[in-house]
Amino acid sequence: MAINRTAEDRKKALIIGGGIAGLLVARVLSEQYNEVQIIERDACPEQPGIRAGAPQSFHLHQILPRGEVILDSLFPGFTAEILAHGAFPIQKNTLIQMINPYGAIPFPSTGGEEIKAGTYSRALLEWVLRQRVEDLPNVNFLYHQQVIGLETSANDGQLTVNGVYIRERGQLQQRTTLLADLVVDASGRSSKLAQWLSDLGYDVPESERVTSAIGYSTRYYRIHPEKRNLGVIVIEGDPATGNSSGGVLKAVEDDIWSVCIASVGGNYPPTEAKGFDEGLAQLISPAIAEAVRGAEVLTEPRGYRIPECVRQHYEQMERWPAGLLVIGDALCHFDPVYGQGMTVAAIEAETLAMCLQQQQEQPQADFERRVLQRMQEAIYPAWWRSVLEDLRWTGVTHKGPVELKGVKLLHKYFEFCMKQSTRKLLEQMQTGDFNPLYMSYFMMNWLFISPRDVINARTLFALLEGETHEEKQAILTEMFEGYEQNIEAALEEIVPHFTFEFRQPPVSM
Ligand SMILES: Cc1cc2nc3c(=O)[nH]c(=O)nc-3n(C[C@H](O)[C@H](O)[C@H](O)COP(=O)(O)OP(=O)(O)OC[C@H]3O[C@@H](n4cnc5c(N)ncnc54)[C@H](O)[C@@H]3O)c2cc1C
Repeated sequence: MAINRTAEDRKKALIIGGGIAGLLVARVLSEQYNEVQIIERDACPEQPGIRAGAPQSFHLHQILPRGEVILDSLFPGFTAEILAHGAFPIQKNTLIQMINPYGAIPFPSTGGEEIKAGTYSRALLEWVLRQRVEDLPNVNFLYHQQVIGLETSANDGQLTVNGVYIRERGQLQQRTTLLADLVVDASGRSSKLAQWLSDLGYDVPESERVTSAIGYSTRYYRIHPEKRNLGVIVIEGDPATGNSSGGVLKAVEDDIWSVCIASVGGNYPPTEAKGFDEGLAQLISPAIAEAVRGAEVLTEPRGYRIPECVRQHYEQMERWPAGLLVIGDALCHFDPVYGQGMTVAAIEAETLAMCLQQQQEQPQADFERRVLQRMQEAIYPAWWRSVLEDLRWTGVTHKGPVELKGVKLLHKYFEFCMKQSTRKLLEQMQTGDFNPLYMSYFMMNWLFISPRDVINARTLFALLEGETHEEKQAILTEMFEGYEQNIEAALEEIVPHFTFEFRQPPVSM
């Protein structure tokens, strides 16, 4: 396999899909390929908005802090630019609040006198990223064209992807061939890659699946003039009472609050106005219901259902065609409730940048398969967290190549982390102290640190600090019920060894 060995092999890259993952990977490939072309089935958008090809854009999207760090590094000045496009500015008095069954944590906003952060819709995010990618001299877009298959050739039993077949949307008789040295599938949840590979004679492993039965309902309001300080409110569900609905209010551009109710386990949130109000009132805190009371309603609620979360395991295939990669939701789509999808797409783009650089410095055979393996490693912590959380709810099942270990124990562990961290952070806010230990649970959820940095005996005992001897014993006995080993051994056995990296992508700025 000769990909990326010489400049000869890096003339043209084609990307299927111009969503978030497609745009990020275009930025990375523009460093290595003479020409990068994005093929998008939608028409060229004339302004930020909801596209037919990405209907989820109507729904509240929040990028995790790690994702924002990567965006700013791939697109220097990104935050300033999105603020200039009207993103809601995070100021000193902006409230960013996370509410769980143990309390309401007001996270300090990063804004000061100088505004350095903002909140925005998925549509505006995509718009700003697209403009930055359009500005890259060697990237071009082909709109209103749908990729309908892979163009391949065989040599000595090894298949190479030489390009794609496309047709204009709605022109069923058409078929045009586009050639390239690399094709990247970034076509999202509707990816046909598994089918295409199977049609080409590959044994595609069964995908890993979680029957999460997720429901979203989203509605827009004009920001209440007297509550302009409300930037973000996140309200979690409560497994102890079986309330699987959470809610988020987020200020976005144009003076708008985007508000959603989301639930897991087939308990779909209402999608008509009265039911939506009732749904907000039934969350574990009335904070969002109270915020929107009296606010001007801009839209009716709109629903979205996701029956399953899916992770492909292409890295397990014995054979894989040269010249083909896959990224974003086309590879793995998570429960969006945890806000991971776009951040993981950014982590994958960062991972690809590292792989390309290593390949350039030290070319090795089997580049694509090694990239697939690295992508899986990059995805794994987010997927593991997302699956474990979804398994808290009745009816949700997981089926995959590796059985999850210690699910009950981990649920108790996470609950304990959330409880202690929330209580201690609230106490510290009173005293003015700060112990980073109590942020570690959240840093793990925001994909900054590995779950192994949080789930270990040292952290557990540190979190137990301050409890009486009897309380400690009671907590540990309950948590490790049924485990014969000592605490270190039990946790070591159930938490995977993630290969988790947090570093800036090696692309020149
Ligand atoms: C209801 C909901 C809420 C979500 N909330 C969040 C959130 O809060 N935070 C978060 O990080 N993520 C969230 N996500 C996930 C997020 O939308 C995706 O993870 C993210 O957009 C990355 O997607 P992508 O680029 O891989 O796919 P997409 O954004 O879906 O883009 C795929 C693109 O490919 C195009 N395409 C598809 N097939 C073809 C073809 N054959 N030929 C040409 N073009 C094609 C489509 O038109 C589309 O533009 C949410 C998802 C849903 C469903």
